[in-house]
Amino acid sequence: MCIFCKIINHEIPSSVVYEDDDVLAILDISQVTYGHTLVMPKKHVRNVLEADEETVLKCMAAAKKLAARIVTNTGASGVNILTNCGESAGQSVDHLHFHIIPRYDENDCIDITFNESPKQDLDEVLKKICG
Ligand code: AMP
Ligand code: ZN
Repeated sequence: MCIFCKIINHEIPSSVVYEDDDVLAILDISQVTYGHTLVMPKKHVRNVLEADEETVLKCMAAAKKLAARIVTNTGASGVNILTNCGESAGQSVDHLHFHIIPRYDENDCIDITFNESPKQDLDEVLKKICG
C-alpha cells in the first residue's frame, strides 16, 4: 500500500486540513512554504494522466476552495497549485496529489522559473500535438 493510502487509512498520522467522502487534504510534511498543503483523492490512482476525469475534478474543486482559504488565512500574496506527473516531472509519491503552495515573496523557499530555451517551430509543435 502506498504512503498516501496509509495516511488515508489512518495508519500513518497526518495534519488534516480538509476531508470528505472522496478527497483528503493534509499539510505537506516538508512545508516548502508556510501552509503547503496536498490535496489527494481517497481512491488510489497513480497520477493525473491515469486518473479518471471525475476524480481530477473533485480534487481540483477542493483545491480551488482550499487555496482561497489558505491564502486568506496565511496572508500569502499568491499561490501555486500544481501536480507533478512522472519521475521526470519530480513526482516522488505515486498517488495523485495536487500541491497548494502559498507564496509570500521572492525569498520564499521555492523558485519556479521558466529558463530560456531553444526556439521552437510552433507550426511543427502544433502538428505533433494535434496531428
Ligand atoms: P511529489 O514530489 O510531487 O510526489 O510530492 C510528494 C510530497 O509528499 C512531498 O512534498 C513530500 O514532502 C510529501 N510527503 C511525503 N511523505 C509525507 C507524509 N508522511 N506526510 C505529509 N507529506 C508527505
Ligand atoms: Zn495510494
